[in-house]
Amino acid sequence: MIDDRFIYLKIYSRDKKRIIIKRLEEIVKYITATQIPDSIENVHPEFIKVQVILARTNLIRKMRMFGGEGCLKYSECDICDEGHCITILYEDELKEKWGSRYNSIMRAIEDSIKATEGLIITMNNKPIMAKFHNTCGGATENSENVIGNRVMYLRKVLCDYCLNSPNWEGYKEISIEEIEEKLKVKFPNLTPTLRIDMKGFIEEIDRDEEGRIKSIKIGGKMFKGTEIKEILKLDSTRFSIVPKILGVKTCGQGDGLGLCQHGANQMALIGFKFNDIINYYFTGVEIKEIEKPCIKWPLKEKILVIDPGHGGDDNVGVKGHQGLMEKDVVLKISKRLKEFLEKLGAVVYLTRDDDEYVSLNRRAELANKIRPNFFISIHLNSFYNPSIRGCEMYYYKGDIESKRLAECIMDRMVKNINVVNKGIKVAAFFLLREVGASSLHIDIDYITNPEVEKLLQNSEYIDKISESITQGIVEYYKF
Ligand SMILES: [Zn+2]
Ligand SMILES: [Zn+2]
Ligand SMILES: [Zn+2]
Repeated sequence: MIDDRFIYLKIYSRDKKRIIIKRLEEIVKYITATQIPDSIENVHPEFIKVQVILARTNLIRKMRMFGGEGCLKYSECDICDEGHCITILYEDELKEKWGSRYNSIMRAIEDSIKATEGLIITMNNKPIMAKFHNTCGGATENSENVIGNRVMYLRKVLCDYCLNSPNWEGYKEISIEEIEEKLKVKFPNLTPTLRIDMKGFIEEIDRDEEGRIKSIKIGGKMFKGTEIKEILKLDSTRFSIVPKILGVKTCGQGDGLGLCQHGANQMALIGFKFNDIINYYFTGVEIKEIEKPCIKWPLKEKILVIDPGHGGDDNVGVKGHQGLMEKDVVLKISKRLKEFLEKLGAVVYLTRDDDEYVSLNRRAELANKIRPNFFISIHLNSFYNPSIRGCEMYYYKGDIESKRLAECIMDRMVKNINVVNKGIKVAAFFLLREVGASSLHIDIDYITNPEVEKLLQNSEYIDKISESITQGIVEYYKF
């Protein structure tokens, strides 16, 4: 059930292979448990609050209803859990990650979510890019050194709170072959007479004409070639020393942007509160409650063109057996629809508001000048068999936004007035093709069905149709 008090996310689920709707706070819980490193032994509740606020901020920043770009792969979703949007581990994976700490960490996260309800990090009233990393190793980074552009709140700050992090110092051994492969470089051939100098390690190699080593300096001390052969039990004095593995020492872990997780937890342990910690790592930000897009004006700033089909004496559209004409019914529906939509804040244009002839070209021109969010043509259907009834909708191939709008509207029409769903289909009608905006063609019902014809003469029924379309449009914009 959708409850207006909460914020819902549209997620493309990799497991279910479909879109799922989840409460924001539930996803915040999973993301927080995913992002807190298990390398922190003593996870402090204030640090958990920090991570909760980071997760919430990043989600809100991505959500379409807050003006975010959504998932770039599944354009109708806020995020997906495939990995490129955000990594989310669910129960099973989290149990594996946290082991015996699973229950206590999940409970602590739930408490932190309640304690920080609705809080996000903002700058100029917009949610920030709440970056973080495992261990900074002494100082975080200026954004321009990592992502190329200067972000006001991602400034370098000194941090030795992470001194006790197991990742303060790292060491990794990488084989020569791996380096060649990954960096796409080629080292010299490893022949026995290859000369390699490494200051302080191996230097001043002196060979005779046959390539035998006469003398060599190792670790700052001179040896004769024969001495080395003896001591290291080599087969010959014709040898060279070749690198096999490079050992790389590192300081810190992660890209150094934003908040240092081990540092932040340490700050919590010594008594800092979540807001102190956030303000320490993010320069000049504010912690604020989310402002929900206005509930009273759910269609604010949305521009819609409603296109009542046909019109004029020569273009009446289809006709019912009692003489009811499509052009009149669709004009009534469109006018009511305009009123309903405007009450919710939308800006609505009609391609005709009278019984007049308007060419298809003219309708397309009008729409392309206005450049609406949606262009919706309203029509009725007809068939020689009077028993046929039902609603059909058409969108242009590939226009998934119109398809989604059609689904929302159809859903409402079926629920509210019990129409028969005869399908949402692809078509290349002139207006679907020529109007640059997302366009939808709705055949409300069959005027050739006597029962339908009767209903369409009832102004209450007309209102119900217009209301259902309105609700469908609101539904579409809800997520
Ligand atoms: Zn995605
Ligand atoms: Zn640090
Ligand atoms: Zn028509």
